[in-house]
Amino acid sequence: MRHIAIVGSGPAGYYTAEAALKQWKDDVRVDIFDSSPVPFGLIRTGVAPDHQSIKSVARRYETTALSDNVHFVGNVMVGQDISIDELRGLYDAVVLATGAPNDRRLGLPGEDLPNVYGSAGFVGWYNGHPQFAELHPDFSHDTAVIVGNGNVALDVARILAKSGEEFQGSDIVAHALAALDASRIRRIVILGRRGPHQVTMTPKELGELAKLARACPRVDSADLPPLAQDAALDAGMRKTMGHLRSFAMGETANDNAAEGGEIVCPGRDIAIEFDFFAAPRAILGTDRVEGVEVERTRLVEGKAVGTGETYRIPAGIVIACIGYQTSRIPDVPYDEQGGRFANVEGRIMPGLYCVGWARRGPTGTIGTNRPDGFAIVEKIDADLGAAGGTGKRGRPGFEALAAERGIDFVKFTEWQKIDEAEVANARQGAPREKIVEVDRMIAKAHPSVLES
Ligand code: NAP
Repeated sequence: MRHIAIVGSGPAGYYTAEAALKQWKDDVRVDIFDSSPVPFGLIRTGVAPDHQSIKSVARRYETTALSDNVHFVGNVMVGQDISIDELRGLYDAVVLATGAPNDRRLGLPGEDLPNVYGSAGFVGWYNGHPQFAELHPDFSHDTAVIVGNGNVALDVARILAKSGEEFQGSDIVAHALAALDASRIRRIVILGRRGPHQVTMTPKELGELAKLARACPRVDSADLPPLAQDAALDAGMRKTMGHLRSFAMGETANDNAAEGGEIVCPGRDIAIEFDFFAAPRAILGTDRVEGVEVERTRLVEGKAVGTGETYRIPAGIVIACIGYQTSRIPDVPYDEQGGRFANVEGRIMPGLYCVGWARRGPTGTIGTNRPDGFAIVEKIDADLGAAGGTGKRGRPGFEALAAERGIDFVKFTEWQKIDEAEVANARQGAPREKIVEVDRMIAKAHPSVLES
């Protein structure tokens, strides 16, 4: 018998569990630990609330989660409630699938001013992550600046631009819906330090901006490379460029640029402006953010190099969507440069592995994690050899330790009680209203604890 501990119940964790079941069938027991009482990681708190079709992948994880040989162990902080060495002592293999929940920092003056956020916090806020439920972003100014040219920047721009009705059918949490409904933001500037050919936005996500009820995406045609240069791009990037070019030509807008006027979208009063070749240099303000100082850049061998020309964008909120880092765990070697665990193809040290963003950094789609999970299971299989297990205790050993320490862990069937409560509490047309406080989640999972 093999005993496998997976730390993290997001896509990388569940794909690894699925691979373990496929590889070892009835000869494996998998425990999936999570610091949260609820499973599915980024599916729940990262994927945008209006992207329900992407979130539906969680149903696939449920099939794995409900296998007799897989257990969810929620509300356990590995590295705090139980150490990595203790886990390694109990399980034949420990796989870290902890993702990359921390923001990379801009490293700019003014970055810590009130109403400046990283995307982990801001996305967590509108997605009901308990850690960020009390963020209270202020939308009383008319301009928001988003830093970064990836899909997260697009998510944030879209969420800021949508009307209340456009959240119909989403699971955006009530506190975010109410705050966004009262928002005065009418200008959203997306800063890219490089150019249109360097964006990491995917076409489907970019195309969504053209379909918003009250927002108009705009690109300055002077920033676009000559059309002929698009031919060298891959098919996805060519589509992405097609969208950016249409935003410049006003295909989604009423192009009155010919008369020297501004491109405006009739009836759409929120502008989403792409500002390319624009690197933030300072966040301005005294008691709170008042603007961003930006330097024009040009590309030199693919890198953004400052031109010395600077300008200021007055803004009341800044959201940096510039990528993420894996959280450290005591005693696990860390790759500072990459912001992830130090590893060689997923191997960290004997008996300790990593997958997904914790292995390769925050890139790729949810589906990228599936081959990752299967690859790590093959490596574990090779390392364990023909003997399979090493006689470790696995789950009974963990349960004994949990009882000794009073670790109040949450099982999958107990998460289902939280799930039921959230679904029952959904506003009309929404799939659920998420519980955003950990103690309320625990109260649903363990009602008897409250009663006693
Ligand atoms: P990303 O695609 O790596 O984009 C990060 C952006 O931040 C880049 O444009 C980068 O510019 C910029 N940047 C980094 N440091 C900067 C700095 N100091 N100053 C200014 N700009 C800076 O990351 P992401 O948007 O966080 O997305 C993470 C992953 O999740 C991606 O794989 C993404 O596709 C995926 N995702 C997918 C979806 C979806 O499919 N619907 C939704 C959300 C996220 P440079 O290129 O110049 O470094």
